Amino acid sequence: MSKKVDLDWGSLSFAYMKTDFRYISRWKDGKWDDGQLVEDNVLAISEASTALHYGQQCFEGLKAYSTKDGGIQLFRPDQNALRMIQSCNRIMMPEFPVERFIDACKQVVEANAHFVPPYGTGATLYLRPFIIGVGDNLGVKPAPEYIFSIFAVPVGPYFKGGMAPVNFMISDFDRAAPYGTGAAKVGGNYAGSLLAHEKAVERGFADCIYLDPATHSKIEEVGAANFFGITKDNQFITPKSPSILPSITKYSLMHIAENHLKMEVIERDCYIEKIDEFIEAGACGTAAVITPIGGIEYKGKMTVFHSETEVGPITKKLYDTLGGIQVGDVEAPEGWIVKVL
Ligand SMILES: *Cc1c(COP(=O)(O)O)cnc(C)c1O
Repeated sequence: MSKKVDLDWGSLSFAYMKTDFRYISRWKDGKWDDGQLVEDNVLAISEASTALHYGQQCFEGLKAYSTKDGGIQLFRPDQNALRMIQSCNRIMMPEFPVERFIDACKQVVEANAHFVPPYGTGATLYLRPFIIGVGDNLGVKPAPEYIFSIFAVPVGPYFKGGMAPVNFMISDFDRAAPYGTGAAKVGGNYAGSLLAHEKAVERGFADCIYLDPATHSKIEEVGAANFFGITKDNQFITPKSPSILPSITKYSLMHIAENHLKMEVIERDCYIEKIDEFIEAGACGTAAVITPIGGIEYKGKMTVFHSETEVGPITKKLYDTLGGIQVGDVEAPEGWIVKVL
């Protein structure tokens, strides 16, 4: 195995760092080229690219994990490939095939293997696939050309504190429209969330939680993570809505809750006025993994779940099982793990 770069793995945050190789494939005249690994991290694109003016771009996020025996593996990359196809369909970009997506992920991880944080450090290699509309174009219409790329960055926890509970506030802003692009991982959703996030952080919260854009009465999700709550009756509950980004971590936790923890799993409306039905709550996503929610502020009132300082027992079990599967310590459901090295 290649020698690791000299990094303080335990103190990594969720921040960009240039690694050695990224994958690039270009779409022109109706097809993707063969694709290749390149060292340059700068893209030169037309000033008239739709990605720059009309937000015609989408992205993904997944991680490579080191196993105890020194191997490296991906967690459910097929699900990211499929979700990226959904995003592409929504904003009229050409699909990048699932098999090629997985192969490109493997190539990037292998080429940057010396940047994959070692087992036990809590850090991982984050992969960021994206597709952007490029080429000369002025009117609002799909781009004439596209670039698919994946870069890789070693990362630590997304929310400071890792597994320590953080507090969220309910936002007055919407992140998505009822029949908009909330379920697609497209850039425009995130530009619109920056101000809401900034205001939450200014007030001392880790992030904000958005309510459903139609009625502002139901919890949708956190800025870049889905929401789940645990009831005293051993139920794992998560909101169901067409404007939520379908989190692969969330669906994985639903499986784990049902099959490993023998919980009842329900996707349904979660009314903010009934928030105290939950005894534990969390935010989940590839970057956030599971971030326990200490409390949620709504209309000046703070509802605290298990504790503001301590992780609840069910959240801890979910975290340990998911994390164990991702690093190969717990047996994974069929098809969840793709070996790289
Ligand atoms: C990416 C993302 C998530 C998490 O999805 P995962 O597949 O679990 O990483 C949740 N919400 C939003 C808005 C996201 O962009």
